[in-house]
Amino acid sequence: MNIHEYQAKAILKAYGAPVAAGVAIFSPEEAEQAARQLGGPLWVVKSQIHAGGRGKGRFKELGPDAKGGVRLAKSVEEVVANAREMLGRTLVTKQTGPAGKQVNRLYIEDGADIARELYLSLLVDRTVGRVAFVVSTEGGMDIEQVAHDTPEKIVTLAIDPCTGVTAADAAKIADALKLEEPARGEMTKLADILYRAFTEKDMSLLEVNPLIVMKDGHLRVLDAKVSFDNNALFRHPDIVALRDKTEEDEKEIEASKYDLAYVALDGNIGCMVNGAGLAMATMDIIKLYGAEPANFLDVGGGASKEKVTAAFKIITADPNVKGILVNIFGGIMRCDTIAEGVVAAVKEVGLKVPLVVRLEGTKVEEGKRILNESGLDVVAANDLDDAAQKIVNAVKGAR
Ligand code: ADP
Ligand code: MG
Repeated sequence: MNIHEYQAKAILKAYGAPVAAGVAIFSPEEAEQAARQLGGPLWVVKSQIHAGGRGKGRFKELGPDAKGGVRLAKSVEEVVANAREMLGRTLVTKQTGPAGKQVNRLYIEDGADIARELYLSLLVDRTVGRVAFVVSTEGGMDIEQVAHDTPEKIVTLAIDPCTGVTAADAAKIADALKLEEPARGEMTKLADILYRAFTEKDMSLLEVNPLIVMKDGHLRVLDAKVSFDNNALFRHPDIVALRDKTEEDEKEIEASKYDLAYVALDGNIGCMVNGAGLAMATMDIIKLYGAEPANFLDVGGGASKEKVTAAFKIITADPNVKGILVNIFGGIMRCDTIAEGVVAAVKEVGLKVPLVVRLEGTKVEEGKRILNESGLDVVAANDLDDAAQKIVNAVKGAR
């Protein structure tokens, strides 16, 4: 689960991290109030969407010459004028994709006098099985470029979970960031704060880009992007309360209601599969035959007919889906349950695209019989390879 920058900053502030004063707002009127409350003389108006690259992003409706999604303002009037221009508009950044995201809330923040922009993040480094700091002196808006062109400028430091961040770790981070006092001493505290926040709140990513050294020599967290481990959310009701569903894919929200493992993708072949491994293999083989999957969907073991019906409806509701592949290897999952779910869903919402079904395993004969007797226009497949070729050909033929 992702949260907004201002929410992430509130969490980090509670842990004692240096963040600027700021107010989240939904209307120009609230923007004026916030600007007066903060007092100036410099404000920053920041689009709150679940995507980075806002500074360099552009509003679809305003054209390439208008300012981006993070704007400096030098008066209350300027704050309000920017808020009016930004609210309700669609911001397109490198991370939103071409469709962009509607900006429904803004964060009005005290402006900082920036001397240096640094990069700092924490993530779970799977190769060493530890939480690691990733830091670079080249922070700001182009870290992806730095990683690509000059990867030696990015330093990774894994933390021993038994000790947490040690003085030696903090010194290494400060050295890598070329920090001098007072920022150097502040980094020791901040590294510990960020590590504790990350582990205690079960984050999967905490990215501060930029972390800045201000003209007065102090450190400040200027941007914050946080993702949480969904599997640990049950123990953080305070975090769940921060969820902004308007930022999420509707199909994924619907899927989460039924506890389906679903991820929307860009292709046009909808997949309904049981088991994550088989789902991955199904996506691979679709690609092998020259098409792209529209989703990853694992209905899981022992899913009910209702769950299968919901899953099939989510797939058919996606306008990008030009064909559906049902690929089930029945173990605990029964093929007849899958067939019943598919038939029930089609009865409700119809079927406008080709459907290829490959069933194998528990109750396979019943499953096939249910599909045959339903009168549905189903293309039966013998194995995974056959199924993938059939659906890819069907979709290509439809174009
Ligand atoms: P994004 O990463 O989505 O582009 P950031 O929060 O990193 O958004 O802001 C982009 C840039 O805007 C920063 O690199 C910094 O130069 C500037 N900026 C952001 N917040 C402030 C602030 N409070 N004061 C001064 N400049 C800021
Ligand atoms: Mg940033």
